[in-house]
This record gives sequence, C-alpha cells and structure tokens, in this order.
Amino acid sequence: MTAVEERPRTLHRLALNETPYPPLEPVRRAMAGCLPGMHRYPQFYADDLMARIAEWRGVPVESVVVGSGSVGVAYQTLQAFTDGPDDEVVYGWRAFDAYPIITDMAGARRVEVPLTPDGAQDLPRLLAAVTDRTRVVVLCNPHNPTGTPVPARALEEFLTALPRDVLVVLDEAYMEFAADDALPQGLDLLRSGHGRLVVLRTFSKAYGLAGLRIGYGVAAPATARRIRAKSVPYSLTETARIAVTASIAAEAELTARIATLSRERARLQTALRELGWRVPESRTNFLWLDEPQRCAAFHDACAAAGIEVRLYRDEGIRLTVGEPRTNDLVLETARRLSAS
Ligand code: PMP
Repeated sequence: MTAVEERPRTLHRLALNETPYPPLEPVRRAMAGCLPGMHRYPQFYADDLMARIAEWRGVPVESVVVGSGSVGVAYQTLQAFTDGPDDEVVYGWRAFDAYPIITDMAGARRVEVPLTPDGAQDLPRLLAAVTDRTRVVVLCNPHNPTGTPVPARALEEFLTALPRDVLVVLDEAYMEFAADDALPQGLDLLRSGHGRLVVLRTFSKAYGLAGLRIGYGVAAPATARRIRAKSVPYSLTETARIAVTASIAAEAELTARIATLSRERARLQTALRELGWRVPESRTNFLWLDEPQRCAAFHDACAAAGIEVRLYRDEGIRLTVGEPRTNDLVLETARRLSAS
C-alpha cells in the first residue's frame, strides 16, 4: 500500500464551503439529458447562458459576464483592469485564498489590509490603503472565512468615498444564504448608480453546482465588455446552460434547502458557543471558529473522526455546515474534546 492509501479516508467534507447535498433534483434530471450531446461544442462565448442570466436578474445582457466559477470571472476582471506591477489590487486579509493568486497571475501588486479584531473587512483602512496606483478593490460580502457581512450604510459610504477610477469587485459568493437579511445587494447598488462595480455570483454554493464551474458577474456594460474580452472561448458548457435554466426554475427547492442549512448553521453555532467556542454570527453556509489556541486540536480531532475542516493555523477554523447527521458528529467531536 502506498502512503496515500494508508491515510484515513475523509468521510465528511466540511472544508470547502460546498453544499452537502447533490444538485437539486430537477437540475440533475436536466443535466442527465446532456450526455448524448457531449460530442458537440457549446457556444463560443455562452451567449444564450448570459441572456438567460440577464433576463432572470433583470439586467441588460450587455451587463453580464460568465466564467469558470466566480473565481474565473474575478480572474478575468483582474486581467482586464490591471497592467503590471505598478498596479495595485487592495483587499482585506484574510480572505478567499484565490485573491492573492489571481492578483499574482495578473502581475499586479497585492495590498492586503488586516481584518478588524472581530473578523470584518476594515473599510476605513481599506480606503486609506487606496492610492493613485490602485486599480481594483475586492470586497467579499459576506466575508470568507469569517462569515461577516458588510453593513449596507458602510458599503455605500465606502463606494461613494472611493476615487471614481477604482473598480470594486463585490464578491457575493454566499449571498443566497444571507438574502433574507436585507444585506446590501450589489445589484441594487449597481442600479442606484454605483457604476464602478462588478458583482460576482456563483452557482457553486447554494445551488450545489461547484463541480460544474459556473460563475457570473454583473457590471456596467463598458466594464463587462472589458471583462468579456478576457474570456476563454468554449469555456462554459451546454450542460452549464441547461443546469442554470433548470436551477432558476427550481427556486422553491433552493429556498427550502437554504432554510435547512441556515437552521443547521444556527444549531451548530448555538451548541458550539455553549461548549465555550467563540463563533461569530455568520451569513453564509459556514462558521468561523475564532480560536487561535484551540483550532489545531479541534482540527486533529475532526480529522480522526473522518471530518475535514479548514484549519487556519494559529487563527481559527472554518467549518462548512453539513447535513444534520454530519453536524451531529462535529458536535460530538467538540464535546469529546471539551471533556478530555
Ligand atoms: N468567492 C468566494 C468568497 C469563495 O469563497 C469562493 C469559493 N470558495 C469563490 C468565490 C469561488 O467560487 P466559484 O466556485 O464560483 O469559483
């Protein structure tokens, strides 16, 4: 047996903020019908998919871009809006791991601004970090890995105070889990005239299609045109178009699924807090365990129980909300650790 085969097999994946459920039933059925057509190319630039998303979101098709996940759209955006090492990309750190990666790939300079002690993006410090070389600011709402939302008023003030030539990428990968919370929605901000904005959304999280790689962005047409110019031809499949159409039609199932995961998030949070863990409010499908001292031990205990969680060494743990029985196992593991 090789060393890899000897490692204990992870049974429960709670490290990547995936939904624990397979794609929605009608979406699965629609996708299954795609197999016989796999010898055919999809559209060169996924025009029909963009048109469908535009119609659904109530925006002109010229405002929509699609990519290989929302990380693909973010990548294209930095390719389009930065031009070499003198150009800066500003974001709060820690954040989604891909931000530094795609900034490096664009050849731009990273400007990483620490989060506040309670895990929020520090808007005044982000603003202070903007210089005349800043091309893009990336804001994540709600934030990964802390789950913290950006308050509506603060976001509006931030956008208003920013120099007009700085583009804001508003990454709303988890917004479906927060939609009933009256968080500032990027689409509303765009409609109300904040033109230098790219709002990123994804089918990877709430919709459960992470493996299919479908993300989209909405921006002013001139911005969208520049991002589209960095698209790779044929990179979105016909299956993606069919899955999106079926997903849009399955809104009731989606809402029920989000409600279940939100209930489970609250249950996990309450129980972990009762065990003495610091767990801030989250508006996503994951929880942040703000525990620099105890995180490694909890990570190891989870690994021994076959649960994969995301360890940020000496910072904390990001725990994706799983199915109820998986969450039970997490709590059982946490209880055992407390008792030891
Ligand atoms: N943005 C954030 C904040 C994320 O956490 C993730 C995935 N972890 C993404 C974007 C990328 O998602 P996608 O699958 O749409 O590329």
